[in-house]
Amino acid sequence: MSKVAVYPGSFDPITLGHVDIIQRISHLYEETVVLISQSPNKASLFTPQERKELIERSLSHLKNVRVDIHEGLTTDYMKTVNSQVIVRGLRAVVDFEYELTMANMNKMLAPSIETLLVFADPKYYFISSRGVKEVAQHGGSLQGLVTDVVADALTKKMKRSK
Ligand code: ADP
Repeated sequence: MSKVAVYPGSFDPITLGHVDIIQRISHLYEETVVLISQSPNKASLFTPQERKELIERSLSHLKNVRVDIHEGLTTDYMKTVNSQVIVRGLRAVVDFEYELTMANMNKMLAPSIETLLVFADPKYYFISSRGVKEVAQHGGSLQGLVTDVVADALTKKMKRSK
């Protein structure tokens, strides 16, 4: 039995869609690890450390959730925390193919690990980190898309890059 669930992703930055998935999972496992997958091939707005802090500050009300940063295969990380459950969120049909490919690849790498796909709440269906960054870039309201701490950080980051 896996007591720990791992929710990997870029979280650049964490959105209310991610927060919702984490809240729902945190009730099912003793511990949930939000894993920032650091990829040198993927350009990001926030550094992994900044993303970690934003997640921690957005989830301070959840006591059994912790945040970690990992560069490399998620399946390798899973072994270090003795977890057999990878959590991913599913929004629209477009997410499905990508998630299916990833889940099958991970199954090849580590057959004992299962991918748990959690449907996005319809309220958050349309929210993506990419969309949120675009809204911030053009000075739109971030209300209802991200937590206040993330909204502040995005606004500051955009000001600095202008
Ligand atoms: P990645 O680059 O690995 O896709 P993301 O940070 O974009 O990382 O997303 C992490 C996970 O959260 C993915 O499984 C993604 O489908 C899911 N996700 C993203 N946005 C939402 C949302 N609004 N509601 C539910 N799940 C979401």
